[in-house]
Amino acid sequence: MGFKYAKRMENIKASEIRELLKLTQRPEIISFAGGLPAPELFPVDDFRKVSDKVLAEKGRIALQYGPTEGYNPLREKIASRMTKVGVKADFNDILIISGSQQGLDFTGKIFLDKDDIVLCESPSYLGAINAFKAYQPKFIEVPTDDNGMKMNELEEIIINNDKIKFIYVIPDFQNPSGRTWSLERRKKLLELSEKYNIPIVEDNPYGELRYDGKIPPAIKGLDTKGNVIFLGTFSKIFSPGIRLGWVCASEEALNKYILVKQGADLQASTISQLQLNQYIEEYSLDEHVDKIKNIYRRRRDLMIDTMKKEFPQDVKFTIPEGGLFTWVELPEHVNTRELAKKAIDNNVAFVPGGSFYPNAGNENAFRLNYSNMDEERIVKGIKILAKVIEEALQCEKSM
Ligand code: PMP
Repeated sequence: MGFKYAKRMENIKASEIRELLKLTQRPEIISFAGGLPAPELFPVDDFRKVSDKVLAEKGRIALQYGPTEGYNPLREKIASRMTKVGVKADFNDILIISGSQQGLDFTGKIFLDKDDIVLCESPSYLGAINAFKAYQPKFIEVPTDDNGMKMNELEEIIINNDKIKFIYVIPDFQNPSGRTWSLERRKKLLELSEKYNIPIVEDNPYGELRYDGKIPPAIKGLDTKGNVIFLGTFSKIFSPGIRLGWVCASEEALNKYILVKQGADLQASTISQLQLNQYIEEYSLDEHVDKIKNIYRRRRDLMIDTMKKEFPQDVKFTIPEGGLFTWVELPEHVNTRELAKKAIDNNVAFVPGGSFYPNAGNENAFRLNYSNMDEERIVKGIKILAKVIEEALQCEKSM
């Protein structure tokens, strides 16, 4: 038809993950590609009971419009749950949104004019990169190591660029790398954010899913001046299908998010909010999260142990202390987009690493998810993958 679409659409490409997920619907595929929770852990029966109760007792509220900020009893529960990641918050600090992905889009809408600069970790979350791209920014990728962004490099970048609007980070069990920031780096990031007056957008879907060690406070928990905008979600601790997340920020910034929420969809689904609120009142979300953690810890251990046994020596991978992902690095000459095609031919899927770098390059890594496949499939899939990698390495050597 050749309609005249907005310029911004030139930047928006189909997400590689979405395309891959379509393939992974085939039952024979062992998928380590998506970031999907284990569906067998969803508390379906309990949720059905609370849903009936909500409709029986509060049906007329549940099916009505509600305030943009969200359903107050749920805002209160979210505020008190924030203590789990070391944040003291009040219900007034919380805006309920339709998944934290919406918070990423809003962040772009609120902060970015064309050619403004976003600082992000290298690599960073593909969904955030795509959401921000709609607002036509430039990305500067800040080098990272096992403890987070490298602070000297970050300060250097800040000093040399004047259009930086925010620093986007995922400090806990990062998507895609599985890495977690040290406390020192969290403090230093906050210090630089205050020194140069640049807000931090802290995206934290996985903070509660820690399998070993102690939870360091979220950067928001160390923030005394309102420099951190925190995005949270129920997707990984309860269910992504209910599409409920939140923004926790200072009054000034939160008001901007409230304004754009009104323009986007008026409010998050009233019925979802009431159902979830009722669930948290009647059941223990803590116990549910513990159950999830126990299963995911086992799956992580199994994936890592199998990789240690099966993968060729020169393949490196992260050992995440929580979350859903491990990040595999191959020798530089291996292209993991090509490798992904071979893996799919052998019925195993993963996401090639290149898409996690907004400025492209870095094609030799890939992301593996361990939450969604059962134990048998994890072992089988990693063994197949090991063979596919071995063949690719052999092939490169003989060329
Ligand atoms: N941020 C990160 C880092 C994620 O991994 C995800 C989901 N994979 C999201 C945000 C979006 O999550 P949701 O919209 O389901 O809350």
